[in-house]
Amino acid sequence: MAQLTDDCFAFSGPLLPVDDLERIIRDRIDPVPEIETVPLLRARGRTLAHDVRAPINLPPFDNSAVDGYAVRHADLNPDTDTTLIVADRITAGRAASHPIAPGSAIRIFTGAPMPEGADTVFMQEDVRAEDGRVIVPPGLKPGSNRRLAGEDIAAGSIALPAGRVLSIADVALASALGLTGLSVRRRIRVALFSTGDELTEPGRPLGRAQLYDANRALLAGLIEALGASVTDLGILPDDPAHLAPALKEAAGDHDLVLTSGGVSTGEADHVRDAVEAVGSLVFWRVAIKPGRPVAMGVISGSQGVNAAFVGLPGNPVAAFVTFVRVVRPLLMRLSGANPPLLVPLPVRAAFGYRKKQGRREYVRVALRRGADGVIEAHKHRQEGAGVLTSLTETDGLVELSENTTTVEPGSTVGFLPYASLIG
Ligand code: AMP
Ligand code: MG
Repeated sequence: MAQLTDDCFAFSGPLLPVDDLERIIRDRIDPVPEIETVPLLRARGRTLAHDVRAPINLPPFDNSAVDGYAVRHADLNPDTDTTLIVADRITAGRAASHPIAPGSAIRIFTGAPMPEGADTVFMQEDVRAEDGRVIVPPGLKPGSNRRLAGEDIAAGSIALPAGRVLSIADVALASALGLTGLSVRRRIRVALFSTGDELTEPGRPLGRAQLYDANRALLAGLIEALGASVTDLGILPDDPAHLAPALKEAAGDHDLVLTSGGVSTGEADHVRDAVEAVGSLVFWRVAIKPGRPVAMGVISGSQGVNAAFVGLPGNPVAAFVTFVRVVRPLLMRLSGANPPLLVPLPVRAAFGYRKKQGRREYVRVALRRGADGVIEAHKHRQEGAGVLTSLTETDGLVELSENTTTVEPGSTVGFLPYASLIG
């Protein structure tokens, strides 16, 4: 299990900047120690536990990059055509039986090993073949159309670094290196609750003053996209007598207990009291909008092992943004993953905006091509933190830095596609 101290999330300042938040997580949380080997085709999305060194050269031998004729470059006339005898024919999967003789060419196909002594390959489109001979033009550089052993990756060098969240291409590379399994950190286990007396399960009749739960569907999807496993523990009422034992029990076999709702300062917001009864709690007033205070804490589980606790705000958009900026770095850290480089893409703002200095803001935008062909970001017409269609009808978030106070229409802003924030 994760090793968490009671005060690992402590922060005393008034408003916690997003960069400091990520630093606290990196400095005070350790990855879970357990490592397992998974078959290659199950490895995508998992976090690599150790560096993987290439056990072989890739490609394993010098080979032809094209269908054509392998030659010795030294045999070629520098300024005129050269006629060579076609001495042999090698297809992919076969090796030449003898070295290339001076004055000859060998018919070769893509992926076939270079015959010993041959260093250059003519593409078949560039030559004339007749009666067992081939006539090749001048001007081809030595080494053309030949792929060298190890030019993709050399045996012994690091093919995939520890902390890598394995992509489809990473799995393909491991396969090309002949590996059948990879060592990954075990999946992080997350217990997920929604809180609120107003919430109902989809499928049930909707009572007066009731609302179907959106956040468990949202958060379960985000957790799974990060390669963690989620235990869906349903909806908890706004009642401390129910909340505290449920949180305590969940802490026993999970690394993180995640709730949404009930963490503001309203009279019906009991999550903070419940966590304080079974563990310790700090409030992070994260300098972020949307997103209200995020409750962070530690719950002591039944076997004396601490689980992390995060209480997100109940409004779905606030829950989304705070998940992406708080829970995602925490889950990645617990799983030993290197934080991904988030690179906002420059787009043209089709909106004007004013904001307070000192906090980072995220504006939900849809991308469209402007009349001049340039990609423009259009702000969603609804800004409310509870408006789910402001997520479904947009493509991502424009990130406005702490120092920004105004966005003029037509200026360049940084756009983060949802895909870069999920998983
Ligand atoms: P709270 O953070 O509990 O004060 O909730 C803030 C707002 O979010 C209220 O309007 C809640 O009804 C709403 N809300 C809380 N939890 C959920 C949920 N799981 N699904 C949809 N809306 C929610
Ligand atoms: Mg509530």
